[in-house]
Amino acid sequence: MLNGIFRYNIFKSLVSYYRNVKIRADLKQIIDELKPIFESIAILEDNKHEIKGNINNIKDQFTDIMKDYLKHNSDKDPNELYNYLAKQTFPYKEKIYDVFLYTEANVSSNDEKDYFNYRFNWLNTILSVLKYRVNNQNNYGSFDEQLINLYDTKIDNAYFSQVGKTLDQIKKILKPGHDQSLYEAYTEFMKKFIIPHDKYEDVFEECIKFTNEVYKKYSNPKQNLLIEYYDDEKDSAEAYAMYLKDYKSKIRCNKARSISIIKAQQLTCHEATHHYHFCFLEDSSSKYPELKLSLQYDPLSFILEGSAEVAVSLIFNDNERKKHLKEVLFPIIGLKDIDDSEIDLLVELDKLTTNLWPAYIHCCKNIVDKNINEEECDRIMKEDYLKPKESWPNSNFFMDHGAYSASYGWGKELILRYLNNFPEERRLDEFINTLQKPILPSDLAK
Ligand SMILES: [Zn+2]
Repeated sequence: MLNGIFRYNIFKSLVSYYRNVKIRADLKQIIDELKPIFESIAILEDNKHEIKGNINNIKDQFTDIMKDYLKHNSDKDPNELYNYLAKQTFPYKEKIYDVFLYTEANVSSNDEKDYFNYRFNWLNTILSVLKYRVNNQNNYGSFDEQLINLYDTKIDNAYFSQVGKTLDQIKKILKPGHDQSLYEAYTEFMKKFIIPHDKYEDVFEECIKFTNEVYKKYSNPKQNLLIEYYDDEKDSAEAYAMYLKDYKSKIRCNKARSISIIKAQQLTCHEATHHYHFCFLEDSSSKYPELKLSLQYDPLSFILEGSAEVAVSLIFNDNERKKHLKEVLFPIIGLKDIDDSEIDLLVELDKLTTNLWPAYIHCCKNIVDKNINEEECDRIMKEDYLKPKESWPNSNFFMDHGAYSASYGWGKELILRYLNNFPEERRLDEFINTLQKPILPSDLAK
């Protein structure tokens, strides 16, 4: 049984653990992030109805993590932090019966029972991720080990096997000449669609407008999405989304990255989806506080990136995408007289190149598992898969983020496979639905 003091000590240890591994530097943020897990545990503990099995399992696991942690770090006791924490109160008690997940006694429909399981699985998985991180600091293992232990997923071989076919289709469109590489043919084709630096903001604003229209009917009316532009040659990132709390996010776009108008559609859908996803999580977390707990390298981060990558195909159908290019974006960058067959090729080529993610992931796996070095990785990415080092993703990203890099491609694949179970007209609704509940990568693969 976890009593109040023990729980407090666990909290203290977890915070210092977070500090030591420098996942987050800001103390206030750490505390805010950890609160939900304590709320969830308190909810489980104080529930008068008897629920067998999983609750004990969660408590045991959690206790084990902390025992391990204290064993290895007993010399670390940040006093300043302790004093700060001593002044904190955590108002979980009064919330217990309001937000209580579901007791078995209260669960009536099958749907609710499923949901109940989702929550337990979620908590269990998040806790085992924490445990793995505590026990494997500085080395999270091979690519496959990281996928399983941090992200609750495993990539099947069928996913990797589609690369050859995709490349053949790309070659058919680009028809590289005898003395021309595929990469050269690709840059040649894309050249006129690259956004001039001084038009970047106009293009981005138009894309955001379109995306917001689609999401508006699903989102909390308080939502507020800010956009900021910056120029940084050294930063290989194209854009970031940051959640600022209370339904407000900021997207930062790097104007120094040269991207095409069709990429701009995809990128805005990606970043805006993060914003709306954060808002959905904010809404759902009054009922499911554990949804607020994000560890960055965890199963939720996998779902976050995967869904953001799927978004463009749900927000724009092919015809809307082509119409938007032709009527809105071409005029901004001064393109005239592009015939429809060329627009068809552009859209087709974009789809094919985004289907090269299994190839990038394979490079990432090889670099994480030390089968190739950075140079080799960059060469293969550029020559075979049309991704030069100055674009994203690249070997630096793979080295910095390990198997997390796979979230963009494999996370997307998992969500697409899941959505394929539904008729096309229902997919956007189902997609929004997955953004609102504690769903794990392994749930999507079932
Ligand atoms: Zn993202």
